[in-house]
Amino acid sequence: MKKITIIGGGAAALLFAAHIDTAKYKVTLCEQKKTLGRKFLVAGEGGLNLTYNTSLESLIKPYVPSEFMSPALQRFTNKDLINWLKKLNVPTFVGSSNRVFPERGIKPIEVLNKITAYLVAKDIQFRLNTQWLGWDKDGQLQFDKDQKIDSDIVVFALGGASWKVTGADGVWKKKFEDKGIKVQPLRAANCAFEVAWGKGFIEAHEGKPLKNIALSFGNQLIKGELNISKFGLEGNAIYALSREIQDVLRLKKEAIVYLDLKPGLTMAQLKAKFNGSRQTKITGVLSKALNLDRTSIALLKQFCDKYTFSNPDLLLQTIKAVPIKLKSAGPLDEAISTIGGIALDEIDSHFQVKKMPNVYAIGEMLDWYAPTGGYLLQGCFSMGYTLADFLNGLNVEEV
Ligand SMILES: Cc1cc2nc3c(=O)[nH]c(=O)nc-3n(C[C@H](O)[C@H](O)[C@H](O)COP(=O)(O)OP(=O)(O)OC[C@H]3O[C@@H](n4cnc5c(N)ncnc54)[C@H](O)[C@@H]3O)c2cc1C
Repeated sequence: MKKITIIGGGAAALLFAAHIDTAKYKVTLCEQKKTLGRKFLVAGEGGLNLTYNTSLESLIKPYVPSEFMSPALQRFTNKDLINWLKKLNVPTFVGSSNRVFPERGIKPIEVLNKITAYLVAKDIQFRLNTQWLGWDKDGQLQFDKDQKIDSDIVVFALGGASWKVTGADGVWKKKFEDKGIKVQPLRAANCAFEVAWGKGFIEAHEGKPLKNIALSFGNQLIKGELNISKFGLEGNAIYALSREIQDVLRLKKEAIVYLDLKPGLTMAQLKAKFNGSRQTKITGVLSKALNLDRTSIALLKQFCDKYTFSNPDLLLQTIKAVPIKLKSAGPLDEAISTIGGIALDEIDSHFQVKKMPNVYAIGEMLDWYAPTGGYLLQGCFSMGYTLADFLNGLNVEEV
């Protein structure tokens, strides 16, 4: 039997291991931490959003580059994931905004345990607490404690570089670069961005949400919500723009996003409500006629000068597009995901590292992006499944 070594024990590796044919390959999975799937469990802390419930076409769209991700997503879709989990006795439900979660009452650790039990039953060998160190001068894999693991095929699934405590430390980057493989810088994605709030504003509004808003940057407009933190802005609306904002912040000292506090109303509707109000004070009109909460009104005051605030036309324009300057991205270690990673032109259509025959790489360690909403896990799962499917179809004599 040919031997496969999987290095990394996160989402991408688990789905690969679940679908690789163990009648054909002897499979060993090495993970540097004491347990598998640490980031999977961290992801579950705020609700384990496994995938997004939508048509295949619109599932593929938010991935960047979608042409790269599309074949894997088509091979193992959101529906396939839901059906597979069902077979593992992990029923799912579609929450508000089409995010898919394990049914209420099922904890992330139970999902992980069911996947692990499935892998044990199909005779995947685990080497936990086993750290891959690089390649020796003969090109053999090196592990800590002088462990030797024979491999005909190696599948790397080492993750990105956020939440290092989970094992996704990005240390692998240099080892690949030393082999002549291009790795794009690892940067925070789906992350917070810094805003220079006024002292009074942040003291009064730290931790407050801005719900039912829309945020625009460049030619993108995202409806969703934001949270105000001491550092700046967080939340799905800004996460979804993080890749583009990061690209601008690489070149410039600041990036400006535009916040629409009333995306459900056109300018004409807003004007009609404003003009129809019997309130005498502007704050009264904003709260009673336009239904803006205290935080939204305070935010407007932060970003309007006195003249704009007292001039209805200018004020209404600002309500539809509050200009907010972003100074920097939050720390990489606190980001939900990482952009950058092994450059995609180093990878062939089967996730093989072109310069290294029989070496494959999947998951967040490749240079792709997806927003929150279950797209990240789905992307990793789809790559794991698709690679297993490909290797299952190989004539092993040729490996
Ligand atoms: C706070 C947070 C919340 C999230 N919520 C969601 C969500 O709800 N939905 C969603 O879709 N996504 C979510 N994500 C993102 C998602 O969890 C990741 O994109 C996904 O887990 C990446 O999977 P992966 O297999 O590529 O890497 P990882 O899951 O990071 O696994 C990589 C593994 O490789 C191991 N490893 C690294 N180096 C070595 C080495 N040298 N030797 C041996 N092992 C090594 C690591 O220890 C790690 O276990 C969230 C992420 C965070 C941080």
